[in-house]
Amino acid sequence: MNSRQSQLTRRRQKLAVRRAERERINGDLTHPEAPHGTLNGYVNYECRCGRCRDAQRRAMAQNRAYVRAQRIARDGALIHPQAPHGTASGRFYWGCECAPCREAARRQRQHNRHRTKENA
Ligand SMILES: [Zn+2]
Ligand SMILES: [Zn+2]
Repeated sequence: MNSRQSQLTRRRQKLAVRRAERERINGDLTHPEAPHGTLNGYVNYECRCGRCRDAQRRAMAQNRAYVRAQRIARDGALIHPQAPHGTASGRFYWGCECAPCREAARRQRQHNRHRTKENA
């Protein structure tokens, strides 16, 4: 009853309800009761109005700056000690400049270019 699982389920149900309560205003899915302009509005109400999207963007930028400030310089590159090395997110999210991360990022970019071409 009070397991973590049921907490998660309740949270998911609440989110599903709130998602359904959103209305499209000026093309944006907006939740009428969300605290607009906050990360809470974006995450917990799934509000996608301009102000909530701004809040999310700011939080992402802050988080990114925080994550990147933890990198250490090694052999002329900035290495993140906790990055999942050899993955594109190691490069793009963690900002790691080690050779495996750079290589993964390069592959991902090529892949994206390929996909964009296919969809065009
Ligand atoms: Zn909003
Ligand atoms: Zn790396």
